Amino acid sequence: MAAEKTQAIVLKLVEFSETSCVLTLFTEDFGKIGALAKGARRPKSPFEGALDLLALVRIVFLRKSSEALDLLTEAKLQRRFRSAQRNLSRLYAGYYVAELLSELTDKGDPHRELFQAADRTLLALDEEAPVAETVVQFELAALRLLGHMPSLGSCVVCGKPVAANGRVPFAMTAGGVLCGDCRPGRRGVVSVSGAAIDALQHAVSGGNEVSELPTIAETIRGELRAVMGNYFAHLVGHRLRMSEYLGKS
Ligand SMILES: [Zn+2]
Repeated sequence: MAAEKTQAIVLKLVEFSETSCVLTLFTEDFGKIGALAKGARRPKSPFEGALDLLALVRIVFLRKSSEALDLLTEAKLQRRFRSAQRNLSRLYAGYYVAELLSELTDKGDPHRELFQAADRTLLALDEEAPVAETVVQFELAALRLLGHMPSLGSCVVCGKPVAANGRVPFAMTAGGVLCGDCRPGRRGVVSVSGAAIDALQHAVSGGNEVSELPTIAETIRGELRAVMGNYFAHLVGHRLRMSEYLGKS
């Protein structure tokens, strides 16, 4: 059993016994892991209160074989997700980031860049970055890094350019916009406003810095949430629990 060290974001925390917890962690070097934290619920816990939802922690854990839970032996708090106490929309956005990581990745499949994007996103949410824009930026980063980026500027079937004006057909299963020739007879197609497609394209081209986030107009926020909610539901096979809370407060 090798002891591994890495950084991690706490995605899920379930009480396991009177003294222990089972955690889902998204680690920088090993992807998602499930780990048992023995004694985490004791008053004098060896983890010193580091195991908070959405906290960034530095951990040491023992890797177990195949299906067994890994064993967490150390956790040092690096940053707590402070929005939890301050602002409901930021808290929901944080939970949503955790749900996306949990649903879109497999155990033991490392995605270092996605870890970094999630870390940046949680920090930005804590530092008063605009919530709607920050969430869309993270969604698009996750889609890109996991190979699910929808085609926005050209037909997902034939590759012909599709202008983002009027209403644009968007194929959920194929993953992108359709041209007039490829639209007929296709199932799972929703009609999206050119403005929403345009906003997504702008968000894709925006940089990593919060100051570079293009503002999303109030008028299309609801539509964007619906499109992304649908798209992620298609990807993971069910609606994401937190998606309905986004933009609600
Ligand atoms: Zn086409």
